[in-house]
Amino acid sequence: MPGFEVIGQEEQLEINKVFENGGILFRHGFDDLRSGCFKVREFESNFSKFLKTRNSLAVTSGTAALRVALAALGIGLGDEVITQSFTFVATVEAIVESGATPKCANINETLNIDPNKIEELITKKTKAIIIVHMLGVPCQIDLVKEICKKYNLFLIEDTAWGCGGSLDNKFLGTWGDIGTFSFDFAKTITTGEGGMITIQNKEIFNKAVAWHDHGHENNPNLARWEDSRSGTGFNYRMMEIQGALGIAQLRKLPQIVKMQRNNSHKIWNYISDLGCVQKRPEPEKSYSTSDALVLITERKEHASKIRKSLLSNGISTKILPEAITWHFAGLWEHIPSLQNAHKYKIRDYLKFSEEILSRSVSLPISVRQSEHFPEKVRKAIVDIM
Ligand SMILES: *Cc1c(COP(=O)(O)O)cnc(C)c1O
Repeated sequence: MPGFEVIGQEEQLEINKVFENGGILFRHGFDDLRSGCFKVREFESNFSKFLKTRNSLAVTSGTAALRVALAALGIGLGDEVITQSFTFVATVEAIVESGATPKCANINETLNIDPNKIEELITKKTKAIIIVHMLGVPCQIDLVKEICKKYNLFLIEDTAWGCGGSLDNKFLGTWGDIGTFSFDFAKTITTGEGGMITIQNKEIFNKAVAWHDHGHENNPNLARWEDSRSGTGFNYRMMEIQGALGIAQLRKLPQIVKMQRNNSHKIWNYISDLGCVQKRPEPEKSYSTSDALVLITERKEHASKIRKSLLSNGISTKILPEAITWHFAGLWEHIPSLQNAHKYKIRDYLKFSEEILSRSVSLPISVRQSEHFPEKVRKAIVDIM
């Protein structure tokens, strides 16, 4: 889970620097008053360096990151975008906000998009695929990339849970045309609210920069109020306090991921012999962020029983099963364009996804896991066997 567990003096010191240098909270301008202190800029630059990528743009949330990504790719009314059935509702909301039509593909046993279930959703209007490294486990990216190449589609990676994770030693969020990240309070690193976009192509990046800032092209020869513009945009600018927080949190990211992975392994080592639960499979060469440990049972009833037993042992679950209505597209009756985009009733179409999700129980992984936690998880499962 989370950066919030390790917020401390380092974050405070970075914020202090903003106040020691004039207290300028805006990411642009005021050059005479801030002694070269540009925290959002510094965060973006450090983020690019960390991910070994080029262009990073900080924004106000992970949802905003998706919205700006779609705008930068010129996706809107009349276009279609495919994503996966198991994701947070924000992925689909961003598509709807852009004016495009969302479609959701089934997941497979990895609980991420099933590469074999994408092509049946592609039409002449399809412009992009948004894969989601759900709960920090990498998607089968190579297979999705092949499809994107074949149909000339953009690939966006919703890396909200996958920050610091990698596949084959390449960071998640740097495989596609665009990677989007969330730093909300529940994510691997946090700025309270916030997000980041990494973009491979410089021209697309420039569009994103302008669009997230009312169309401002940040022409170096012009004052901000005289700035050039080629189109409208919106305001998704990150502020300096968030940038300061991000700088301190990013330094802690490798250690957070390492500890989460260790803690997840510790739990699994304690229960793997029980046989009644399987661990969610990951693609080869995955380095997941281990945001959660998802256990897959044989039947829905087993999952409910385990959840109940965990709760009575003082252990809560995360997303599966208790928050499924926010994370499974088959239940989103409040999004008409999603309902109408599919030939069949969406819940029927996503039957496979619903079936496997209903058999899953997800344990949140914390950085500060108590020594007895794995033992408690084992006891909760053994209790109902
Ligand atoms: C958290 C999350 C988002 C949205 O991020 P916010 O910063 O909360 O707006 C988008 N997609 C997924 C998969 C998420 O989990």
